[in-house]
Amino acid sequence: MTMLKIDNLSISYGAIEAVKDVSFEVREGEVVSLIGANGAGKTSILRTISGLVRPKSGKIEFLGQEIQKSPARKIVASGLSQVPEGRHVFSGLTVLENLEMGAFLNNNREENQKNLKMVFDRFPRLEERKNQDAATLSGGEQQMLAMGRALMSKPKLLLLDEPSMGLAPIFIQEIFDIIQDIQKQGTTVLLIEQNANKALSIADRGYVLETGKVVLTGTGQELLASDEVRKAYLGG
Ligand code: ATP
Repeated sequence: MTMLKIDNLSISYGAIEAVKDVSFEVREGEVVSLIGANGAGKTSILRTISGLVRPKSGKIEFLGQEIQKSPARKIVASGLSQVPEGRHVFSGLTVLENLEMGAFLNNNREENQKNLKMVFDRFPRLEERKNQDAATLSGGEQQMLAMGRALMSKPKLLLLDEPSMGLAPIFIQEIFDIIQDIQKQGTTVLLIEQNANKALSIADRGYVLETGKVVLTGTGQELLASDEVRKAYLGG
């Protein structure tokens, strides 16, 4: 079943056309990776899906409903959650308080406790540090916190913006293992990354973006093996 369908999406910032006529889809249960160089338009696409940026034209359907005009809050409530680039954890708040912010739309205490337990089971390091100021976590731990916060709303679709950015190799592997684990537990994932090798290795399917356009698509393995991807993104 198609969970997210993007049809002829164009995004502009004033005179700058950042994304031109992009179409792609994410099916239930998949990890889909969008890869592309700096400025290809990846973040713009995610922010538009989340309702933070309005498209110039095009259609976004999530679970059969058009959402390109919906407010961000309503989109989160319908089961879509984004982990922003650079993580943006709330400093001055503890790890636990940051996680609670992820559940702000849900007043059901019992459910929130259950989701918190699920997040702590997946990220034991966050439980160990639950009373620590989020700003004092390492980069990898902050990424885990940002992912945990997004999972607190029990999303059907998780959008991840460059989760490996700025992390040490050992944390990068851990983050990608966690993404696969999240998929296995039944959450669909749309991942954008500059680390094409890792992102395609775990992807069911991928799309390559260049200057605002989709130029190539295939399964993760097909894209990893393609000459174009190897030359442009894998240094081969
Ligand atoms: P990166 O990997 O570097 O984050 P990206 O693929 O995510 O890049 P975007 O951040 O979506 O790319 O940017 C696409 C284009 O849109 C770039 O040329 C960028 O300068 C421009 N852009 C993005 N946000 C804005 C904005 N708020 N105002 C003006 N231009 C913007």
